[in-house]
Amino acid sequence: MRLTFLGTCAGCEPMPDRHHTAFALEHDSDVYFVDAGETCSYTAHLAGIDLLATRAIFITHPHIDHVGGLANLLWTIGKLGGRVDPLALAQASPLVDVLISDHQVFEGAVELLGGTGFHHPHYDLQVQRPADGEVYASGEFRVTALHNEHMGTPEPGALWQSFSYLVEAGDRRVLFSGDFRHVSELDSLLDGVDLVLVETGHHRVEDICEHLAPRDLPGVGFIHHGRAILADADAELTKARAILGKRVFFASDGMQLDLATVVGSA
Ligand SMILES: [Zn+2]
Repeated sequence: MRLTFLGTCAGCEPMPDRHHTAFALEHDSDVYFVDAGETCSYTAHLAGIDLLATRAIFITHPHIDHVGGLANLLWTIGKLGGRVDPLALAQASPLVDVLISDHQVFEGAVELLGGTGFHHPHYDLQVQRPADGEVYASGEFRVTALHNEHMGTPEPGALWQSFSYLVEAGDRRVLFSGDFRHVSELDSLLDGVDLVLVETGHHRVEDICEHLAPRDLPGVGFIHHGRAILADADAELTKARAILGKRVFFASDGMQLDLATVVGSA
């Protein structure tokens, strides 16, 4: 499984060399997006990721720094599909699942596309609301969702809006926190995880590192960087490594990891 960071910035104003949050996972010949911040499709395409192999898009929560690039991602898949032999395409990517807690936001993206004359004729879209438990399975690629309190606690009868995702492919496990209220919300998903990707848009690096330090985690990556990392990444990384050692890193836009070799043993 290969991971490509497409955007590593929290919901800040435009920052040099960083865009809002998204990453792509390539497993076998399939492609998955986790969050869809602003320029995710642009960066993915130029990184050589085959957008026509997109199987699913997992949105942690419907804030603009996580969905701002969704319409453009759907458009780019369609644009690239228009250049391919329809028969070949029918076998390549007939259905794209979109998991998102707020269907109005999804419909808004589709409406935006429709209003500009785009009807994604080259693939079908299927929208689903995440809930706690397994939300996606295709062969050995499986995704489990767990709600967090980033968007508050729902009123009785209402649904959770913000989720963390655990991705399993073969013997590799990657956990993405999404945005959360407290890092302890990840605890029940951490067992056996090879790499945990954690946001710092709302948290201090050292608090997260101290919480994770007792866990036997082979890899801890920071993504969705907040003000402290954006201002002085070197100083923050020094703090993080004083607690977690070399297993911690800060993701940058365009960074790629081969999960089979970089984290743990194949
Ligand atoms: Zn965010």
